[in-house]
Amino acid sequence: MIIITKPSLLEEYIERQRALGRLTGFVPTMGALHAGHLDLVRTSATQCRETVVSIFVNPTQFTDQGDFNKYPKTIEKDILTLESTAATVLFLPSVEDIYPNGLSGLEHYDLGPIETVLEGRFRKGHFQGVCQVMNRLLHIVRSDRLFMGQKDYQQCLVVSRLLELTGSSTLLIRCPTVRDPDGLAMSSRNLRLTPEQRLRAPLIYQMLTEAKKDLQSGADSTDTQRKALETLEKAGFRPDYVEIADALTLQPPHDQEKQLPRVILVAAFLGEIRLIDNLLV
Ligand code: AMP
Repeated sequence: MIIITKPSLLEEYIERQRALGRLTGFVPTMGALHAGHLDLVRTSATQCRETVVSIFVNPTQFTDQGDFNKYPKTIEKDILTLESTAATVLFLPSVEDIYPNGLSGLEHYDLGPIETVLEGRFRKGHFQGVCQVMNRLLHIVRSDRLFMGQKDYQQCLVVSRLLELTGSSTLLIRCPTVRDPDGLAMSSRNLRLTPEQRLRAPLIYQMLTEAKKDLQSGADSTDTQRKALETLEKAGFRPDYVEIADALTLQPPHDQEKQLPRVILVAAFLGEIRLIDNLLV
C-alpha cells in the first residue's frame, strides 16, 4: 500500500492505472477504522484492481464543534491495519488540500426532500458538508466504483443524488452493515462509549429487530414507532428519532402499501454519544 497526501499525486497515480485498464474502487472514511470499514475494502478488492481508502475528518459535515474535536483519531493504528488489507492506496489529505479556498462560501447542492428529514432535521447542513467533501474527493480519485455502508442509510441516498446531480459515472455500491456479535453496528464513535454504555448499546439493534418483526406481521407504523421509542427511553437512551420510512424516498410510507420496501431508522444518544442504525423491512 502506498500513502499519498497530495491530491495532484493521487490524480497522476489514478490516471496511470486507468491507462493500464485497471478499475479503481474508492472507500472514503474518517478513520478510527473498524471491521465495517475493512469490509468495504474487501468488497472493493473483489471488484477492482485498485482500492483507494481515504482518511479525512471532514470539518464541513459536523454540526457540533465538540463532536468534531472529539472525533477519534487513531492514524498510526489505521495505517498498520490497512497494511494487512487489500487496499493499494491510502489517501491522507489535509483540510487545506481539500478546501484550498477555505471553509466559507462553499457550494450548495439541491438535494431535494431527502436533505431535511431524519439526520438532516437534527443535523442541519450535515448533508451539504457530506456532498462538499464527496464531490471534491471524487474529483480527485475519479474512481469507477464507490463503496459505502448501509449503516449510514440516508448518506447513501444523498450521495447517490449527488452522483446524479453532477453527472458522475462512478457507480455507488452499498454494502451491508457490519455488527459486533451482540448486534451493535460498528462505528468509530463506539470507542467513546463507557463500558457500561457499551453493554446497553445493543438494545438499539434489538429494538430494530423487534420492530421489523412487528411490521412484518402487519403492525401499524405509528404503534411500532411508539413502542420502539418507549423501549429506548425506558433504558435511558435519548432518541432524536425512530422513523419508519419508504426505503427509496425516506418519506412516510403509505400504510396501505405494506409490500413496498420500508426502512426503520434510529438516532439516539447514550450519554453524549449519538448512535445511528437502521434495518430494512
Ligand atoms: P465513517 O468513517 O464513519 O465516515 O464511515 C466511512 C464509511 O464506512 C461509510 O460509507 C460508512 O457508511 C461505512 N461504515 C461505517 N460503519 C459501518 C458498518 N458498521 N458497516 C458497514 N459500513 C460501515
